[in-house]
Amino acid sequence: MSRAIRILIRGGTVVDGSGCAPVVADILVEGDRIADVGQLAGSVTDVDTAIDATGLVVCPGFIDPHNHADSEIEGGILKHPLADNLVRQGITTLVCNQCGGSTYPVAPLLDGVDAARPVTNVAMLASHSHTRWRAMKQAGVTTPCLEAWAIMRDLIRDEMEAGAFGVTSCPLGATQERIPTAELVEAARAVGPYGGVYASHIRDEGETGRHLEAIEEVRTIARESGAHGHVSHLKLWGHFNWGKTEPVLTIFDRAKAEGTVLAADQYPYIGGYRGFYSLLWDHQTPEIADPARRRAAEAEVRRQLDLLGGPDRLIISSHEIGDPLDGKTIGEAGSILGLAPEAVVPELYLRKPQPRLSAFFLAMQEEDVRVFMTSEYTMAGTDSHVRVPGSGASHPRNIGVYPRLLGRYVREAKIMPLERMIQRMTARVADQFGIKQRGRLEKGYFADIVVFNPATVIDRSTWQDGYRYPDGIVWVLVNGGIEVAGEKLVGKGYGCAIRRR
Ligand SMILES: [Zn+2]
Repeated sequence: MSRAIRILIRGGTVVDGSGCAPVVADILVEGDRIADVGQLAGSVTDVDTAIDATGLVVCPGFIDPHNHADSEIEGGILKHPLADNLVRQGITTLVCNQCGGSTYPVAPLLDGVDAARPVTNVAMLASHSHTRWRAMKQAGVTTPCLEAWAIMRDLIRDEMEAGAFGVTSCPLGATQERIPTAELVEAARAVGPYGGVYASHIRDEGETGRHLEAIEEVRTIARESGAHGHVSHLKLWGHFNWGKTEPVLTIFDRAKAEGTVLAADQYPYIGGYRGFYSLLWDHQTPEIADPARRRAAEAEVRRQLDLLGGPDRLIISSHEIGDPLDGKTIGEAGSILGLAPEAVVPELYLRKPQPRLSAFFLAMQEEDVRVFMTSEYTMAGTDSHVRVPGSGASHPRNIGVYPRLLGRYVREAKIMPLERMIQRMTARVADQFGIKQRGRLEKGYFADIVVFNPATVIDRSTWQDGYRYPDGIVWVLVNGGIEVAGEKLVGKGYGCAIRRR
């Protein structure tokens, strides 16, 4: 049997993920593991590849706690295993099946990952949306009941046995009826004994001013189930909520004081991504051709634009290549079409064929993003998915989150020490989700490693051009294999499925 490949990463500034201060050290990789960390350069000679990391930072590969790469958008990770928008920002592990979960069951997806050998590792959560639907069908009911909940718990337990790390819910608009908190507690109870996560796209992120209640609900569910509570993509949506970070963080403080695990992931942007026609809210019907209804629909759009803080805070993202409206604010689109901003939405909605549009809603405030970022309860996340170049507008987070945090927030804004930022991209995520032997640079751990240039690392994507690769992510190793070298994709496919053990 041939010996394992040995890679020596020499003389880098090692930030190990634990939050400890950087030290200059060498790292020896042997096969898929870290064989040694320390002053090794003199003693280790017989290596296949030597990487000179002088002046560069060496840290654990980034674990993205919120990713949609399993979903069918553009085929997902199984169809596009060379997911360079993810690995080129330094992500080595994705926690997928978020916001209620589009994949069920997890086993075929995990097996598919092992067969497809993508450039990053993939972990999964169990889907609450699917298991609740199946349970109600099996119980022969259309509204939730104790019997359906018992079936649902069993289905989620099966998912945990198949390797899921927790359960994901999206009680926001998942169905017409309101999903009771008691049901979500039951779902979380299926994962609590495993030390699993209960992750939630909460009921309200500020749109109707009930977000505190929604975060409190996650705390209640975590406390009653023993699961690790997790708020997905934490934010304050809408200008009437801006600046009100303190009551949000107080909920996390209270959870901590009572011994409940409650954390959140966050992307470092002031804009979210939603369907363009969602601005019409419940006016999405052909009847808005009628003038009176159309006026009502326009009034609704105006109300929503006011909530955002004005028409320049909504940017159109077209799925049609070369669309003149792509990247324009809704005000600019109005000028092009000769319409008031609020009239643009019903006008395009009624066109045949209807243009395929999404939009960036710049509904958050930068100051709040920073306050949440520096809190001990948050970790970096992307809420991204696999993107293929030339496939239409893309949220800059799909390709830029980690370089942005390291370049704009650590180097330029000096928002926190580098080692603390890296901790919230690595070890904190591994601890919250119970992902073993990853997220730290430690002897015996899997060799998921990023080497970046602290002087140049930066994101380059914008709202208008969402598919620009970042700078400064120089090397990326996944399970000891080189996926990025000299800032270029190698893409051999060393990623695998990660199953809870
Ligand atoms: Zn979500």
